[in-house]
Amino acid sequence: MIIAMKSDATEEQINDACESVRHLGYTPHLIRGEERVVIGAVGSGEKEEHLQALRCVPGVADVLRILQPYKLVSRELKPQKTIVRVGDLEIGGNEFIVMAGPCSVETREQLLETAVAVKEAGAQILRGGAYKPRTSPYDFQGLEEEGLKLLAEAREHTGLKIVTEVVTSDDAEVVAEYADILQVGARNMQNFALLKRLGRAGKPVLLKRGMSSTIKELLLSAEYIASHGNDQVILCERGIRTFETATRNTLDLAAVPVLNELSHLPVVVDPSHGTGKRSLIRPLSKAVIAIGADGLIIEVHPRPQEAWSDGPQSLTLPDFAELMVEIRRCVGNESRHIN
Ligand code: PEP
Ligand code: MN
Repeated sequence: MIIAMKSDATEEQINDACESVRHLGYTPHLIRGEERVVIGAVGSGEKEEHLQALRCVPGVADVLRILQPYKLVSRELKPQKTIVRVGDLEIGGNEFIVMAGPCSVETREQLLETAVAVKEAGAQILRGGAYKPRTSPYDFQGLEEEGLKLLAEAREHTGLKIVTEVVTSDDAEVVAEYADILQVGARNMQNFALLKRLGRAGKPVLLKRGMSSTIKELLLSAEYIASHGNDQVILCERGIRTFETATRNTLDLAAVPVLNELSHLPVVVDPSHGTGKRSLIRPLSKAVIAIGADGLIIEVHPRPQEAWSDGPQSLTLPDFAELMVEIRRCVGNESRHIN
């Protein structure tokens, strides 16, 4: 339920309304909009009529039901877009964000070479997996903490922010120590224990859509993180499984405007995993800008033919620099800016 406060409601009235919500066994989530404050009352719904009665409480303008099954992440609750802040960087605002880097952190040289190049080309965030969720147990599983240390060194060296994956709840603490953004991979989108843990992580989360998940399921997963205390969530479309075999996954571009209609959370797109093919990154990146996404996450490797994972979908450093020139032009055409 949404408790919409009057535009002239006092702080005391807002606090009282929150207290009444708590008293009824719901958790109040305060959202300060430009014009007024709304309180999201999240809970099991047993005392809904009691919540409705809060209409008579001083300072309350209206009490409305949230129709979607996800509440805190819905546009119904919060019409204005959420801006996720990563240091001085804002994701979800007017700036278009590019996250780039290797699929896996392999060596110090590979990571630093990539970091310097993507920074120079204009990326704001360095990606790179230190804990890798590989389909085969015989494939490279990541450098783990050693990889996190290399990512931190690359941040130190370039000023780039770091996004890297947390594969299990057990890793959450150590990854949160090093990373600026915690990535939940497609295979973990419905690992509810991990989502709850990341609700308490105190760092923004990049939540990737599961390869067989609906948009509703993605938003319910985001709701898990938000309802456990962390509203700094970035949604990521990374392709879904369909009957099509020409690409690794089918990049669901429609998901971007759909998510923007249904949710206030920022949305980024991963055309690397979405297609599995380096040649498709450029046209799809341009499309992603045109449909109103907040950013891109792209795999880049100094020598893709030698990459320990996902070489065929990784751009070379010069290809990425060239792509950034085009991205900058397209972002400008949309009256947005980058860097
Ligand atoms: C990744 O970004 O490295 C990754 C494993 O992606 P996904 O979870 O989308 O497959
Ligand atoms: Mn990858």
